[in-house]
Amino acid sequence: MLRGFFNGIKDLIYPNLCLTCKNRIVPAKGQNLVCAQCWEKIEKNLPPFCASCGRRLDKLSLAKNICSNCLKFKFHFDRAFSPCTYTGIIKKLIHEFKYSGKDYLGEPLGDLMNKFIKDYRLPIEYIDFIIPIPLHKSRMREREFNQAQILSEQIAKEFNTKILPDALVRTRPTRTQTELAFEERRKNVEKSFTVNDVRSIKDANLLLIDDVLTTGATSSEAARVLKDSGARIIFVMTLAN
Ligand SMILES: [Zn+2]
Ligand SMILES: [Zn+2]
Repeated sequence: MLRGFFNGIKDLIYPNLCLTCKNRIVPAKGQNLVCAQCWEKIEKNLPPFCASCGRRLDKLSLAKNICSNCLKFKFHFDRAFSPCTYTGIIKKLIHEFKYSGKDYLGEPLGDLMNKFIKDYRLPIEYIDFIIPIPLHKSRMREREFNQAQILSEQIAKEFNTKILPDALVRTRPTRTQTELAFEERRKNVEKSFTVNDVRSIKDANLLLIDDVLTTGATSSEAARVLKDSGARIIFVMTLAN
């Protein structure tokens, strides 16, 4: 009872505010970062999906099954999936997760990915290993954790899949990609990964995990070196695209 009293006082002094709308949240178990209304408003990626990048297809692309971007550029991964569209609330949450050290956001965000895997019956049982897209060690020092690793752990726990956290290594830091066009991004990430554990990768089906798929250049380059090392099928999953 005393603890409840002190928590009550703490909440008066430091009220829990929703990360996105800043309204006060009544603390509830496991959900005190974003209010329930904002969580419901997270922008979901809805079918029909592009058979390559996983984005929602517009009407013009429906007959081809593939979006106009993917007709122009062939990715080295086999297929990408994302539960959300990179805008609004999820964009804000991913930013907090990545740059503000809020590693505890990994659990609710990982749940979004797990739910998507179940809802769309992705063939997770055929995946031998989950591989988080690594950060370069200089970035790792700035951020203290790799958000892709945390998301990978959530999926691995849910589906009993193995993670290979060190199989893929980032050999050089790359410029922040946000402002670059596809071709520049492709050049920017070229030869920035190497495979550390060729023996495990050979003939394996892999699920690469990252937070966001923008042009797909980073995931594609990672997939390229993994396929060069003998990987078979490579799926990519990100929180948003
Ligand atoms: Zn809110
Ligand atoms: Zn596409």
